[in-house]
Amino acid sequence: MEYFYDLHVHSKECSGCAASTAPEQVIAAKNAGYSGFALTNHFLTGNNCVPKELSWEERVLYYWNAYLDAKKVGDEIDFDVFFGIEHNYGHAQEILIYGIDLDFLVSNPDFCSLSGEEICDRVHAVGGFVSHAHPFRERSYIPKGDYQMDFSYLDAIEIYNSGNLENEDIRAQELCKRLDIAHTAGNDLHWTEHLATFPNAGLVFDHRLRTNEDLLDALRSRKGVLRHSGDRFFK
Ligand SMILES: [Zn+2]
Ligand SMILES: [Zn+2]
Repeated sequence: MEYFYDLHVHSKECSGCAASTAPEQVIAAKNAGYSGFALTNHFLTGNNCVPKELSWEERVLYYWNAYLDAKKVGDEIDFDVFFGIEHNYGHAQEILIYGIDLDFLVSNPDFCSLSGEEICDRVHAVGGFVSHAHPFRERSYIPKGDYQMDFSYLDAIEIYNSGNLENEDIRAQELCKRLDIAHTAGNDLHWTEHLATFPNAGLVFDHRLRTNEDLLDALRSRKGVLRHSGDRFFK
């Protein structure tokens, strides 16, 4: 059996640029043949839509609640949902963080003032996993320059992102090989309609991933096989 997972998904409860709810993303991904996904909404320094006047605890609860909403539907239709965030650590450079939970966010209220390297240390202290999202993406919203964190702190590189240009992913794949670290891949799904037109990317594993531990073990094993099909959104 093959089990297909998208490691990069947004929803409109938290991500300002997303158009579908977390439960809608679950149903669409299940129908597209996925076994599960990680919900990785833009965190508080990125393109988020969480009310700024709320306390830290209230704001991070938005992320957790979107995950719980997705997980509830996922449990009903036999679809695995994992909690994650996509964090902008500066200059619109982003990292995908897996294996953390609400307690972690609540107990790190200075999170958004930390460097990418400091965040990796905090995440690793609780057994979590950090992958650099689209490291070579060039867009108008990303300042030109070379401000990126020290990649030696990372656990993985995102080697395929359906919103990238092909050459951006090729460079990410070369970087991943050069660093000799694990890889992640996903659609960077922002609305359900993407699944009809996007290449439907992710990693295929030979076993089901049911828990956070399963997910992190599988990613660390580097056995996830990249799958995508069809044309890219950008040419
Ligand atoms: Zn976005
Ligand atoms: Zn994203």
